[in-house]
Amino acid sequence: MKPILKLEGVHKSFDKQEVLRPLSFEMNQGERICILGPSGCGKSTLLQLIAGLLTIDGGIIEMGGKPVDGKKQFIPPEKRPVNMVFQDYALWPHMTVRQNIEYGMKRSRTDSSVRKQRLDRLQSMLQLEGLLDRLPTECSGGQQQRIGMARALATEPSILLMDEPLSNLDVKLRTEMRSELASLLSDLDTTALYVTHDMLEAFTLADRIMVLRAGGIDQFAEPHQLFSRPKTPWVAQLMGYHN
Ligand code: ADP
Ligand code: MG
Repeated sequence: MKPILKLEGVHKSFDKQEVLRPLSFEMNQGERICILGPSGCGKSTLLQLIAGLLTIDGGIIEMGGKPVDGKKQFIPPEKRPVNMVFQDYALWPHMTVRQNIEYGMKRSRTDSSVRKQRLDRLQSMLQLEGLLDRLPTECSGGQQQRIGMARALATEPSILLMDEPLSNLDVKLRTEMRSELASLLSDLDTTALYVTHDMLEAFTLADRIMVLRAGGIDQFAEPHQLFSRPKTPWVAQLMGYHN
């Protein structure tokens, strides 16, 4: 089977400063991959390149075997089989929760009966009962994050991209949402690429973890392998080994 996502030699600079070194990896259907790394290492840049919110400087990105960014082609974000959940939720402030969730589905011309089905399902799954007619500002941070998730999931993207979706929540809520999200993603059988600087999140959610440091991949492996066989001193340090 073709990988759902494939990057080969993808690199990116801002103002002549290389933020991502040529980077290659593949992701399979149904996999949950966490990209783990310190602030400033290029995580958001990588996700935005995959989403099509930024263009690559070189290399190629393929989705389902088709190039979406490379020498000759650039498929815009709305035509890629991805959807993204942001750290700051990025909900439309003037739209109700229902309108926010329906927005992407309407844009992709989803049939109204299908829209209703998905809305009902997401509503109960993400505990949004009673919130649909409110404005985002009338919802708590945790609720807003769930709404952002519902909005992204509603379009049934092949790949769900998440950029530190829990980092703006307080510690208690973050802990709750972490396990909630883990079970949600496994219930939905969603293919997800999840960016975080939180080790615990990565270990709770991921089938495989990519450790990113200064724009390059230190190690890309299953969580237990990072722990038992760290490939670099940096990964070892992350895992709590002291030398
Ligand atoms: P992370 O998400 O891992 O914290 P980012 O991908 O946001 O890291 O940023 C990686 C590096 O690229 C940082 O040094 C950041 O300052 C720089 N950077 C990110 N976006 C831009 C931009 N639009 N213009 C210039 N520099 C940028
Ligand atoms: Mg970031």
